[in-house]
Amino acid sequence: MKLTIFSRLTIGYFSMFLIIGAVNGYALLKVHQLSIGTAQIINVDERILDLKRKLADSILSQMGYEKKYIITKDANFHGHFLSSRNDFNKYLTDAFLIADTQPKKESLDRVKAYYDQYVALILAETSEITDHRPYPKNLYQQEKGKLVERILEDLKVLEETSYRDIYARMDALNAAGSSSRRLTMLMFIIALFLVICTSFFTTRSITKPLMVLAEKTREVSKGVFKGDLKIASPPEIAELTSAFNVMCDKLKGVERMKSDFFSTMSHELRTPLTSIKEGIGLLQDGVGGSISDKQKRLLSILSQETHRLIGLVNSLLDLSKMEEGMMTYHFQREHLTPLIKRVITEMGLLIEAKKIQLQAEMGEDLPVLRLDRERILQVVRNMIGNAVKFTPEGGEIRISARLGSEGVEFSVKDTGPGIPKENLKAIFEKFNQLPVKASEWMKGTGLGLAIVKHIVTAHGGRVWAESDPGQGSTFIFVLPS
Ligand code: ADP
Repeated sequence: MKLTIFSRLTIGYFSMFLIIGAVNGYALLKVHQLSIGTAQIINVDERILDLKRKLADSILSQMGYEKKYIITKDANFHGHFLSSRNDFNKYLTDAFLIADTQPKKESLDRVKAYYDQYVALILAETSEITDHRPYPKNLYQQEKGKLVERILEDLKVLEETSYRDIYARMDALNAAGSSSRRLTMLMFIIALFLVICTSFFTTRSITKPLMVLAEKTREVSKGVFKGDLKIASPPEIAELTSAFNVMCDKLKGVERMKSDFFSTMSHELRTPLTSIKEGIGLLQDGVGGSISDKQKRLLSILSQETHRLIGLVNSLLDLSKMEEGMMTYHFQREHLTPLIKRVITEMGLLIEAKKIQLQAEMGEDLPVLRLDRERILQVVRNMIGNAVKFTPEGGEIRISARLGSEGVEFSVKDTGPGIPKENLKAIFEKFNQLPVKASEWMKGTGLGLAIVKHIVTAHGGRVWAESDPGQGSTFIFVLPS
């Protein structure tokens, strides 16, 4: 199934959004993980450190209160001690609740065990005091001191463990931060590459068939109607392509009809025109009786026009045969120079009449060519004929034949009006005449150069025109030797 331009663009843009979305999502996930790590440090370790400080302060103040109580026997100090004990137990419970690692829990377990022993000792001592019984005061003192020392030591261990955890977490966060920075960067580069590829392929899948279509359209404008376009393209362009193929078929049909029409018409016209020409000839010869001078002038005009019409009909027939590939050529090995000389002689009167200066440079020992003498004569006649036709009176024509890299090169350079650059190719297409003020001499059919191109191409050669505005024009053909 071929995707439409709309779906291609939609899929293209959607996948770009997906790619960019995935990179953003990944970056957000990483930021979230980092913030969880930071929160853990703040919520667990910082709080444990805080509780440790409070526990240490509390045990020291408990120690102070109970010492004062023993000395003064003031019940107030015992009361302070009891409220401090409550605080201590509360801090300890909190610490147990948030302690997240085994070493922390073990330290707290030990603190609790020592503390329980410490409290038990104090309670026992208190009851001895209230009952006024003698008891080993120093022993109690020593034991309590040892227990408080152990509690403080274990709280210190708890503090160290927490700091260690903080540093370990910070290191892990740092490592995770830099690895996610690297990964995000990598993902960004991959995403950029994917986005460029996606947009390139989406755009190309649309523009490529359009370019092929544009190229074909250019060919059509040059008269090549090959409607065989088959390109893998989106349905919208495929529709355009098939319409284009239909158009080409129709144009081909019209072209064929036109050629058929011309060739039938030319066939039909040739016989009566020849009869008219013969008839005029006979009348001019006085077969139908004597004719006045005025009648002679009229007959001469009629003869010229009929001659022109026969020429046109013959050209049309030649061209349609050439286009159909039905023209037969009689190739033989021959020199080009005598053919050129012959045409120059034929045109001698015309050249003289227009007082044109003609220079011909024929290269010595040019190679023999494989050519159809009549057809090449037709080519040379057309090219020199055009030069004479377009060169104004007193102008100059240079004819040359020389050996070039591709073969024998024949050129005719004139001092006529020249040809605009954009028309240099078009004049070789049939019926293509440039808009010039048509005097009697300029009249033509627009078929000559089209025939020239067919003939030269059939000889394996090449023909073209060169012209600088106001500098006249040069027509050149090359025939392979
Ligand atoms: P035509 O019978 O009109 O001369 P061609 O096919 O021989 O037909 O020439 C086509 C057109 O090319 C001419 O109508 C003219 O506009 C242009 N052309 C041909 N030869 C010359 C030239 N030597 N100088 C200027 N324009 C020329």
